[in-house]
Amino acid sequence: MKKVIIIRYAEIFLKGKNRGFFERAFESNLNRALKGYSCRLIKQSGRYLVEDFDEFDSDDILENLKKVFGVHTLSLAYETSSDLPAIFEVAKLLLQETGTFKVESHRGDKKYPLTSVEISKELGGMILDYTKGKLRVDVHKPSFTIRVDIRENGRALVFGAFIEGANGMPVGTAGKGLLLLSGGIDSPVAGHMMAKRGMVVDCLHFHSYPYTNMQAKEKVVDLAKILAKYTCGTTLYTVKVTHIQEAIHEKCKPELMITLLRRFMYRIAERHAQRLGAQCIITGESLGQVASQTIEGVTSSNSVVEALPVLRPLIGFDKNEIIDRSVKMGAYETSILPFEDCCTVFLPDFPATRPKLMDILFEERKLDVEGLIAEAFESVEKIVIE
Ligand code: ATP
Ligand code: MG
Repeated sequence: MKKVIIIRYAEIFLKGKNRGFFERAFESNLNRALKGYSCRLIKQSGRYLVEDFDEFDSDDILENLKKVFGVHTLSLAYETSSDLPAIFEVAKLLLQETGTFKVESHRGDKKYPLTSVEISKELGGMILDYTKGKLRVDVHKPSFTIRVDIRENGRALVFGAFIEGANGMPVGTAGKGLLLLSGGIDSPVAGHMMAKRGMVVDCLHFHSYPYTNMQAKEKVVDLAKILAKYTCGTTLYTVKVTHIQEAIHEKCKPELMITLLRRFMYRIAERHAQRLGAQCIITGESLGQVASQTIEGVTSSNSVVEALPVLRPLIGFDKNEIIDRSVKMGAYETSILPFEDCCTVFLPDFPATRPKLMDILFEERKLDVEGLIAEAFESVEKIVIE
């Protein structure tokens, strides 16, 4: 008897003429999640099995696999001989003390002497005898289920629960986006959502060192590492916008500080995305959440982007919904660490909530936009996260 992990995928993406493309991406993402563990991934009748791993690693491997998009459900199963007594020995390990149960069986090996209904009946009877009245059978609403899967090689898989996977589409099947990653709660969630649809996500972070400190940068690196577990790795680019902020602060109306800065961020993001071959910009904006995220605020920053779509997967989400997702993806604890973001440097007391394009353009003409962008690009740093 040994432990095996069963990986089931959402069928839909493996159908049709692109099947090979999706399958290769999915398999390579699974292999990536298993990297560093001695084990074997095999494909078998519409699912994958992970075999020959060290039992001590099973929890870690399951945690990694739960983050792979495209995985529908997982089960930790015992593999044993397909003889009924051997299956019964394993089933004993999965029994609860009291309550109701049922046995569900599936026959991959059609030559097996019992039908799946017979297997369930026989095994159910053995369990009832063994537990002497402590358990009852309930095929409709059992408190737990014993599942048996007869394989073709004289072996059987026996397991209890289905563990919910990340669902979605395999990363690498839906192009590439450049995520504007701040140190906040929202942007990692936005990246997670696009990766769930199969997109490769690289990250761009703006800092204003020395106004923002090294801890703020480390926090962003940590967030990128958390995100990378779902995005199959990422590359984080950082750009220094200190001089841009100083120039705006010195020359322009304070209430337009954030709007003007965001227009610089979007311009830099678009050009950087194009250099990387990314096909869109992703942000964590949610309508009305702060002054710069009113529809006027979004319009004013959006209008500097010329060629690429800006995807805002959180636009219609409440903060609570975003926090729930952040907690689930494991980013929340890091996101709420108290380090300054560049947007809080030179923050005006009353930022404009409905900035007018005419005013913005008037203020922007006081700045050497191209010169400042060129200088910012000289500060690009690249951090590859496996
Ligand atoms: P977040 O929680 O993601 O920081 P937020 O609620 O603080 O968002 P803003 O500060 O207005 O909202 O930022 C909106 C979006 O702009 C962010 O979700 C992110 O995509 C992008 N952004 C903001 N600050 C930065 C930054 N320093 N570097 C990169 N992108 C940023
Ligand atoms: Mg923020």
